[in-house]
Amino acid sequence: MSSSFQAADRISDVAISDIVIMSEAARARRAEGHQVISLGIGEPDFHTPDHVNEAAIQAIHAHDTQYPPIAGKPELRSAVASLYEGASLENVLVSSGSKYTILNGLMATLNPGDEVVVPAPFWTSYADMIRLCGAKVVIVPTRADDGFQVDLQTLRAAMTPKTRWLLINTPSNPSGAVMSADKLVELGEVLSDFPDCWLMSDEIYQHLTYGMAFASAWDVLPHYRDRMLITNGVSKAYAMTGWRIGFGIGPKALIGAMLKVQAQGTSGTCTIAQAAAIAALTGPQDLLVERRQSFQSRRDLVLGYLNAMDGIFTPKPDGAFYTFSSWQDLRGGITPDGTVLTTDRDFCQYILTAANVTIIPGTGFATEGHFRISYASSTEDLHQALKQMTVAVAAIKRP
Ligand code: PMP
Repeated sequence: MSSSFQAADRISDVAISDIVIMSEAARARRAEGHQVISLGIGEPDFHTPDHVNEAAIQAIHAHDTQYPPIAGKPELRSAVASLYEGASLENVLVSSGSKYTILNGLMATLNPGDEVVVPAPFWTSYADMIRLCGAKVVIVPTRADDGFQVDLQTLRAAMTPKTRWLLINTPSNPSGAVMSADKLVELGEVLSDFPDCWLMSDEIYQHLTYGMAFASAWDVLPHYRDRMLITNGVSKAYAMTGWRIGFGIGPKALIGAMLKVQAQGTSGTCTIAQAAAIAALTGPQDLLVERRQSFQSRRDLVLGYLNAMDGIFTPKPDGAFYTFSSWQDLRGGITPDGTVLTTDRDFCQYILTAANVTIIPGTGFATEGHFRISYASSTEDLHQALKQMTVAVAAIKRP
């Protein structure tokens, strides 16, 4: 007897992301023999620093390869705690990537029917994780004209007594927008009217701000530390995406609940990767400055090209390694082969075929009429890709 596969209800709304769709399209184009430059992936092009690699090798030689403590190695938790004023070991949970930290935080707190308010554009995964928990995503749109900063009235209007989390990301993927300390204080004022709503602040791009100081919700809103989860990790700052080390910093009760989720999920996090993360956090930090400078000059390079494209509007991003541009003025435009560009996917597909460049549709970040470029690529690739894109964009006949 055979029965057909039936997925759980909780995954019925989880979609294949636009990033995956564009990567597949790029793969198909490469298979046809084209040279495609990917500006799609959010991954630093640097290597993990040597001293970090060395610490991992040492851990292997020292046979540090047995089950780790579920919450993380005390040395790593302590290194993380020391970065957050007033935090101690019991406020820190180490996980297999900050992505899993976020999922843990949501799983440990959300019940079906709960709401999570998220300013858009936002990293695609948030919405799917929230849905996996049976909760509802409440989107607060922001505008390119406002530099994708949250409008407080719109935010307030989205909050209800069912709102369990306000989920923010600063610097932001995909917009690169950075929240100032003043903005965080204003968010705190909104939160004061919703005592059951907690603040989750994804600060994974903390070390990548350009000319604007990074402000952590932990420092700016100390009186909210008892209802706040900071998520962070080593992936972006130390070029360690593959090591899968993230951490959550929050009140003891929340960390305890997240620990229960983790205990039945991944268990503890890879011992060798934790040894590497300890070296990253406690070793020399000057590489952060060098890498930041390198990203800043690439941001300026990409902005230069984008600003010169007719019909494309790009607010200057102050952080992360993305630009998020509006192509609204070209919507309805016609390509040289007669295709009418209606959706973000149309536009990105056109850029892929006409310019051999992968970019990601704004719809993937809950914000139509836009596209994201990741500039974590070599300067040569960026020049080449943006030149090709300039030609392709100029060839669109305006609506
Ligand atoms: N948050 C944001 C906004 C991200 O862009 C990413 C990675 N793309 C993550 C979290 C997850 O990073 P990791 O799991 O590698 O720590």
